Amino acid sequence: MFEIVIMADCPETPIGSQCDEPYECALNGFCRANLPEHNVFTLYYGGKKACELYNLGITEIAEIPPIFQLNEKQQIQRSCIVNNNTHLDRERIQLFLGQLQYPLYFLDFETFNTVIPLFDGTHPYQNIPFQFSLHIKETPESGLRHISFLAKGKNDPRPDLLDSLSRNIGDSGSIVAYNKQFEEKVLKDLSIAFPEYADRINSMLPRFIDLLVPFRAFAYYNPSQKGSASLKKVLPAVTGMDYMGLEIGKGDDASLAYLDMTYGDLSDEECLTIREQLLAYCGLDTEGMVRIIEKLEEITNK
Ligand code: SF4
Repeated sequence: MFEIVIMADCPETPIGSQCDEPYECALNGFCRANLPEHNVFTLYYGGKKACELYNLGITEIAEIPPIFQLNEKQQIQRSCIVNNNTHLDRERIQLFLGQLQYPLYFLDFETFNTVIPLFDGTHPYQNIPFQFSLHIKETPESGLRHISFLAKGKNDPRPDLLDSLSRNIGDSGSIVAYNKQFEEKVLKDLSIAFPEYADRINSMLPRFIDLLVPFRAFAYYNPSQKGSASLKKVLPAVTGMDYMGLEIGKGDDASLAYLDMTYGDLSDEECLTIREQLLAYCGLDTEGMVRIIEKLEEITNK
């Protein structure tokens, strides 16, 4: 180890499984900068397979020989790159859309998870919600209503958040989230911390629909997703909208910005700017889900 540390030049270690295990290396972008756009490391859950291909001298997904064993989703990915097209499983998308019951509530939470708990009864790394965005579509024909909550002040943000959420989500209709497990877990934790809301929260949980499902199933896949079903990749692929113009474009950045704004030493003006950035970021997540659903409906109605 010491010999490596005192070397004048970087060791010539090839890219391999050590780049992502046990944690993603911070230099991944640097070491992979010269790889082609659709390189084997963008293979959906490629893992060891990607390393094996790379060690065989195959860097492009399009170059993977047909005899090399890929799973169904990886085959879809390769086919979309080779043919430069979008894969659609209309039937599967229709089945997904068929589950939606109006009014539709598109919900996204932002949370922070400090190692030292800030509030009584919470534990290290517990996700504490401080913001939500809620887009509401009452009927297929109606316009969109947007409600957002972003905590103010240093107090525990959860009571005010829960109060706003329970007033704005009605008693019927689907609640759409992207990777619903996260929103469900936040709500379950809230129901334990604030049992007076438990009945209300328990009535919401069975109504969740996960928009990640059709994308994780590759019912829709576009090469620009580069092997990812995350909202950040799916939104531009399906709708053309993206997070490029936003100052805050990731959940981690949103948490840090909130903590900075709330407990840091920033001026009122700086805090106001962060508030606007947080509202824009969380709002795009839920508006994005609305637009994705609209696009999926358009595609399947053709
Ligand atoms: S990404 Fe990190 S682990 Fe992988 S080759 Fe580069 S420096 Fe080594």
